[in-house]
Amino acid sequence: MKRREFTPKQRFDIIKRATTEDNRILCEGCSLNVTFKKWEIDHVVAEALVVDKSKPLTIEDGKLLGHCCHRGENGKTAKDVKAIAKSKRREAKHFGFAKRRSTFACSRNGPFKAKIGGGAVRRDA
Ligand SMILES: [Zn+2]
Repeated sequence: MKRREFTPKQRFDIIKRATTEDNRILCEGCSLNVTFKKWEIDHVVAEALVVDKSKPLTIEDGKLLGHCCHRGENGKTAKDVKAIAKSKRREAKHFGFAKRRSTFACSRNGPFKAKIGGGAVRRDA
């Protein structure tokens, strides 16, 4: 599905919202002064987690975040990646195609069952 992006007007409005009266740009996560630092406009709810993308984005869906809050191990992006992976696993389980843990032929999850006296039978037989 397509990732929705903010329009130039919306980006402008978000930047304006994060700018103080004395023209400093503050991170909307931790209020750090990021005027001369790198910052990005974050999707508050990661696009990959949004189910209904027919609704257009508003500036409430965006947050100006410095690299202080957006990047790094505990940054928003890292957390989003975890949340996305988790929701994918949940979805896979729901639809019944969660990964089998093992592919050894006679392991508990394998297609064959070892007989005590030797030999193997198909589990679904
Ligand atoms: Zn920050």
